[in-house]
Amino acid sequence: MDPTKPALSPAGAGFDTRCVHAAQAPDAATGAVVQPLYLATTFERDADGGYPRGFRYAREGTPNRSALEACVADLEGGIAAVAFASGLAANLAILEQLSSGDRVVAARECYHGTHRQLREIVARRGVTVEFIDATDPSELARAIDARTRLVWLESPANPLLSVTDLARASALAHAHGALVVCDSTFATPYCQRPFDSSVDVVIHSGTKYFGGHSDVMSGLVVIRADRGLAARVLEWQSLAGAVLAPFDCWLLRRSIGTLGLRMQRQCANALELAEWLAHHPGVERTLYPGLPQHPGHDIARRQMTGGFGAMISVCVRGDQARAMDIARRTRLFRRATSLGGLESLVEHRASIEGPHSRTPHNLLRLSIGIENARDLREDLAQAIG
Ligand SMILES: *Cc1c(COP(=O)(O)O)cnc(C)c1O
Repeated sequence: MDPTKPALSPAGAGFDTRCVHAAQAPDAATGAVVQPLYLATTFERDADGGYPRGFRYAREGTPNRSALEACVADLEGGIAAVAFASGLAANLAILEQLSSGDRVVAARECYHGTHRQLREIVARRGVTVEFIDATDPSELARAIDARTRLVWLESPANPLLSVTDLARASALAHAHGALVVCDSTFATPYCQRPFDSSVDVVIHSGTKYFGGHSDVMSGLVVIRADRGLAARVLEWQSLAGAVLAPFDCWLLRRSIGTLGLRMQRQCANALELAEWLAHHPGVERTLYPGLPQHPGHDIARRQMTGGFGAMISVCVRGDQARAMDIARRTRLFRRATSLGGLESLVEHRASIEGPHSRTPHNLLRLSIGIENARDLREDLAQAIG
């Protein structure tokens, strides 16, 4: 196969098939079944000065990055994906499209790094940012008007796992000509396809489930249909230079092969644990979109067709000291930030978010891994006591 023209997966193929085959075909030169790693930073010109193989200089594009981007665009169902060195760099590629005087409506509940970018970088440039409760359609309807250029959503959102009705939010935003962005990191395209709800741009921190092994930092912007926007984001990628390095692209593409398998197991583990935690006397509140008592459950059932994700937040009965004590006592659950890896993690969220945090102090966020569900349950049982 010509590495500049990676084959897309067969039309209509299922998610797991596309995880394995999208933009992945034997290497034309060697027959290698998976794409080799190309570390070159520069590519040869033809005698006539052209670049018939499509690559010129690695900041602008590399074979491993192009293949990864084609694969992610295929999985999400968009026209283009653009890979960055982190999730926050991917965010900025979109936020950099704003100009002074523009107005942004953003979900108040979102990744704290995104919140900080909006408050500290975007707002400083003369862009007005209004934070709202995006799960409340009346707040969305009130906040979005003709001056709104961008609506920033995250669903399920960090750290309360709130669910936003993406189709409804998109319809409101589009009625006023605003662009709709959804950070779909917690869901992955296995659980939800925001483009089916007319969202314009999907963002992923690839560091989480796409990477899946807690060893690659990366970010992805995926664009549904707007070719002009795709060209501007690609231009930004090349000029800002926060590109994803070849080996990281290669690792990410390798990890995507098992994305469906991992998500299937992690979602099943999470649902089982959430149902158990919801009845535990040491737990005040279990937040998981798959539980019928979750306020966003009905929307999640419609919107998250593949599963409810593998993130659970629990408010323990007691205060911060009690929550920290439970985190200290876990044996399988590792005390660490981040999510989406094979290993389960527990995190006291308020203390990592810092002074601006609105997260309840008795909240522990759990990233559920692929381990045996009974082992995970027993670990939490002995830790909660
Ligand atoms: C981790 C995370 C980010 C930021 O991604 P990085 O790869 O850490 O830059 C953005 N959004 C969500 C929902 C995340 O969990």
